Amino acid sequence: MRITPCQAALAAAIALNLLLLLCSRLLPGASPPCRRPRRVPDGVPGVTVILRDFDGPDHDVAATARSFAALPGVAVLVAAEVAPYPPAPLPAGVAVLSLRPEPHRPPPRPELAVRTRHVALVPDGARAAPGLLRRMRDALEAASDSGTKVVAAAVGPRRPQCLTLEVDIKAWTARYGRAEPRGDDRSDRRGDDRGEPCGALDGAPAVLLLRTRDLFSLPFPLTRPVAASLSLQAAARGWRLLLLPAAFPLAPRPPPSPHAQWRARSAQEARRRALLELFGLKLEVLPDGARRWHGCAKDTPRCFGTVRGQTPEYLLAGRWTPPCCLRALRATARHVLAQLEAAGVRHWLEGGSLLGAVRLGDLIPWDYDVDVGLYRDDVPKCRWLAAVAATGRPVEDPQGFLWEKAAEGEFFRVHFSRANRLHVDLWPFYARPGTAVMTKDTWLGHRQDVEFPERFLVPLGTVAFAGVTAKAPNDPRGFLELKFGPGAIENPEYPNPEVRRLAQDVGNKTAR
Ligand code: ZN
Repeated sequence: MRITPCQAALAAAIALNLLLLLCSRLLPGASPPCRRPRRVPDGVPGVTVILRDFDGPDHDVAATARSFAALPGVAVLVAAEVAPYPPAPLPAGVAVLSLRPEPHRPPPRPELAVRTRHVALVPDGARAAPGLLRRMRDALEAASDSGTKVVAAAVGPRRPQCLTLEVDIKAWTARYGRAEPRGDDRSDRRGDDRGEPCGALDGAPAVLLLRTRDLFSLPFPLTRPVAASLSLQAAARGWRLLLLPAAFPLAPRPPPSPHAQWRARSAQEARRRALLELFGLKLEVLPDGARRWHGCAKDTPRCFGTVRGQTPEYLLAGRWTPPCCLRALRATARHVLAQLEAAGVRHWLEGGSLLGAVRLGDLIPWDYDVDVGLYRDDVPKCRWLAAVAATGRPVEDPQGFLWEKAAEGEFFRVHFSRANRLHVDLWPFYARPGTAVMTKDTWLGHRQDVEFPERFLVPLGTVAFAGVTAKAPNDPRGFLELKFGPGAIENPEYPNPEVRRLAQDVGNKTAR
């Protein structure tokens, strides 16, 4: 029987339609031909060792690669922006994978270079230990029901410290703590074959083993420093890390010169800072409570641009005010309040700042400035305000705060510094002539921007704010409900709910 091309095309179209129909009936539990292929296949049994954290010129990549490549069922991959330098004589079968995108090459796709089901990220200088990678893999598979996705084993004689880690994206913060020893005796856990659950490791290098598809489900699978990068991403997902008691040997190496040590330390520090910047983490709270800041300071610009529509850009990213900015705002507020108090200027917390004080004794965690009202008649009593009013030019005080007349209207602004424009706004109010109603000359059209009876200020009251006792209207609740409407204290909302609502961001477990 002869089939014309037309009949053939018809038959093909019918067959394709039948297939599509079949697929649409079967989805979502569709049979394999209907589903889009997985981007990262499950892989073949075995482990791919990835060497990522090494630095020239004293790297040990060739010997580390040789040691692991000799193991059965283990493939070794060297992943780097630039090939190891000086050039390393890599054993046969060990590939170098370039992670640097280049205009004349296809984009780097490290996930395509790994064929095995498991990967191990191995620090430079580690040596293979017979059977240990396999035991790590078995421990991972045995513990995966409990959410364990990473298994670690130390490299060298020192055991890493097991830390807890909480990543709070909304607050731009990573909090480390000491993991509670399991059982009642610390010495018990070293001998515990099941391993110790940790959030992060500190103090010693470790091999990290995970499923290939888990590693490459991360947005930053191979970002250095690998251990910090993986533990932060794992914590942000609620993944657990299990530290086994066994360890890999560390190759003996001559002690580096002091200069080489210093270079290694500063390179490590720079990479760590770059990682936190990349992840949008501006504050690390260390196990002993010490704080490491990565955000803005007196000599750097503030972390966000000009605020439009009462909605700072970080709110649109689902984040609240960066902690460095809250800290700088608190410092500026405390300074300004102390200056006004010392000068005898009658003043009080206004707007969102008063709302935060009544709610939390602090700034509202998504606020971007501080508002203070004062009596216009008292302006000359404060030397900085008097100087600004007289000259129209900004004045920097001895503590580096910059006082100026706002360009936007009849009010003053005190910036954290010349470079960092986090600020307190000072609003001069006066009684409308012949009345007991407080008014001012510049109105921004915000809901809370309204006149109010002077009785709220006579006498002034106090409220806790940003670590100090601040002056406030004598009936803060009445004052706030007059300005923001009833229930303003109990029902938090973003300043401009038409742009973004608080409900979009709470319910998320990182909200606090
Ligand atoms: Zn900041």
